[in-house]
Amino acid sequence: MQSTDVVIVGGAAIGSAAAYFLAAQLDFKGTVRVLEQDFSYARSATALSAASIRHQFSTPENIRMSQFGTQFIRQIADYLAVDGEVPEVGFHEGGYLFLASEAGQGVLQANHSVQRGLGVDVALLTPAQLQARFAWLSVQGLSAGSLGLSGEGWLDAYGLMQGFRRKAISLGVRYQQARVVGVQRQGRRVQQLSLDDGSTISCGVVINAAGTGARALAHSAGIALPVQSRKRCVFYFTSPAQLPYCPLVIDPSGAYFRPEGPGFICGISPPESDDPECFDFEVQHSLFDEVLWPILAARVSGFEAARVQRAWAGHYDVNTLDHNVILGAHPDIDNLLFANGFSGHGMQQSPAVGRALAELVVYGGYRTLDLSALGWQRVMDRRPLLEVNVV
Ligand SMILES: Cc1cc2nc3c(=O)[nH]c(=O)nc-3n(C[C@H](O)[C@H](O)[C@H](O)COP(=O)(O)OP(=O)(O)OC[C@H]3O[C@@H](n4cnc5c(N)ncnc54)[C@H](O)[C@@H]3O)c2cc1C
Repeated sequence: MQSTDVVIVGGAAIGSAAAYFLAAQLDFKGTVRVLEQDFSYARSATALSAASIRHQFSTPENIRMSQFGTQFIRQIADYLAVDGEVPEVGFHEGGYLFLASEAGQGVLQANHSVQRGLGVDVALLTPAQLQARFAWLSVQGLSAGSLGLSGEGWLDAYGLMQGFRRKAISLGVRYQQARVVGVQRQGRRVQQLSLDDGSTISCGVVINAAGTGARALAHSAGIALPVQSRKRCVFYFTSPAQLPYCPLVIDPSGAYFRPEGPGFICGISPPESDDPECFDFEVQHSLFDEVLWPILAARVSGFEAARVQRAWAGHYDVNTLDHNVILGAHPDIDNLLFANGFSGHGMQQSPAVGRALAELVVYGGYRTLDLSALGWQRVMDRRPLLEVNVV
């Protein structure tokens, strides 16, 4: 049997961020191994994400995590350069624009107060101000908009993940392509993991960074993790419309679009009542024709001529309690740390969560950003820490 101090299950954005922060932590002297079932990452949420970062959340912890995310990405050379080579993540600080109808204006304003209190560079705009700033936008039915002025935007999520991974490897982390099929637990401790090749590995600490595979892993350790896999489709389209200074726009309907290369990407989350657990990767093409296109065409003149060029489907790991990550150890197990249930905002949180996991392993508590509100206790108590700004 092999033995490692820290085993991370899942080597995409979260697992690789944790691996990097652990290996870079001077107070950590142990060994780290990342077990990843598919080195192509083709089905990981990280590779399939819309790769955007915003500070406009309702939960203070989410805001702070994304603020660190921006700082990290801006200074990526200081963190992730290997032999002078800096990961290319193409960060474009284009901002987010949340639009609200009269019904949503109160929530927008409440979020604005929380965000401003935490130093978010965000402005509330009236419909007239929106129109003056974005001539291409139809302000019909709008009461207000919230525009991120700096720190928000989009990047290459796969590039960020590979940057974490490459740096972690350069610092001595071992990556192994293997699927974890079983967790052997004795009392309050995980003793070993079983792999799909029949081998086992004993470990001091295990980090569950398995995305939509996290619930099965937790189940194997006797823990019920309230995370479901929910399909999200992304459509890339081109349009004759020219949209200067286009941010990532979120319509009051929940539909979003943003520039991507010479075109745009867009998507929308279905209503909770019509969002079953799902593991297939089939694109719902009717979603664009029947739901997205009418919304886009009404919001931007020129988008009525939008042509879908390609589309893909990925999965959010949705925390069904409150749409926020479940972070840290379960009260019943001392050496199994969770980082699951990101509900569509995990890529941008990967630097903060990776750092947090490293602190939990090395110090047994948070040193930089206190994320204890995101721990298991709220799940056990059925006390949601609800994030209302879910896209
Ligand atoms: C369509 C879409 C759009 C999104 N847009 C954004 C966005 O704009 N901004 C943002 O911040 N986030 C976004 N997200 C969410 C974000 O992509 C995820 O929250 C984040 O990538 C989660 O990273 P992860 O490493 O936890 O999970 P994943 O990227 O899913 O990685 C989990 C890894 O674990 C591996 N694994 C699973 N089970 C096992 C096992 N038993 N053994 C070994 N390996 C295993 C998998 O192969 C996978 O590589 C989006 C997601 C989707 C699907």
